Amino acid sequence: MRKLVRHWQKSAVVFALFLSPLVVAQSAKLAIVIDDIGYHQKEDAQIYAMPTEISVAIIPSAPHARQRNEQAKQQGRDVLIHMPMQPLGQQKIETGGLKLGLSQDEVNDRVQTAKRIVSHAIGMNNHMGSAATSDSALMTKLMRSLKEQHLFFLDSRTIGRSVAGKIAKEYGVKSLDRHIFLDDSDLYADVQRQFQNAVRYAQKNGTAIVIGHPRKNTVAVLQAGLKNLPKDVQLVGIGSLWRNEKVVPARPFNLLFNDIPAPTSVAPFQSVPLLRGIPD
Ligand SMILES: [Zn+2]
Repeated sequence: MRKLVRHWQKSAVVFALFLSPLVVAQSAKLAIVIDDIGYHQKEDAQIYAMPTEISVAIIPSAPHARQRNEQAKQQGRDVLIHMPMQPLGQQKIETGGLKLGLSQDEVNDRVQTAKRIVSHAIGMNNHMGSAATSDSALMTKLMRSLKEQHLFFLDSRTIGRSVAGKIAKEYGVKSLDRHIFLDDSDLYADVQRQFQNAVRYAQKNGTAIVIGHPRKNTVAVLQAGLKNLPKDVQLVGIGSLWRNEKVVPARPFNLLFNDIPAPTSVAPFQSVPLLRGIPD
């Protein structure tokens, strides 16, 4: 009997040990979206080799857009349409992008064309777009169109005075804002610092939405950083944030222990660490 009690105490300790990470504060969420997918074979492949919680934003007119769309779907990775939108500067945007002055029909048409190519998209974010996202008329047309297409919106926040989020709300489109750009500077040390900032931002605010690009140093920082994420930070797909999903940290299988003695625990038994007793 004493042996049995000792065994029970040991089980309780083991159970408590495995339970403790769940009892501690809920994990902070880190969502990473990689933009400009579809142009660079090598870097895209490196992104697609990363955990499937890394979301991808595909430019519809990019040469490998369709292939990346399918590949992401097969992997169960969240896909966004990375829609080219008019910037304030003189840079040209890809064909099929959104420019000031387009009619509602033209916006609908461009959104539908993009959705036909990036068919597995659950949402859209803007490629450039400092002029487009601060233009109420264009954003109103865009949000009407996204509502119809059942697409979420992620504002890349390429300009402080963006009205996209406000108008999305008015039209019942769920929208989120980017918090941190990983690689405005392409230097390894800078990208690394931004990654650490993102982790801290998540720990402080509960969630960090991060945008990066398929570039050599971004890939290198992510490969190293994701392996060493603090235990209280959980990498999540961007879709889980729009859907308000509760994120439960992966449970060790030992949690399946229940507290009803299994037949194998009836004395006499031989104690095996981490297992219930095995009958003698
Ligand atoms: Zn972009």
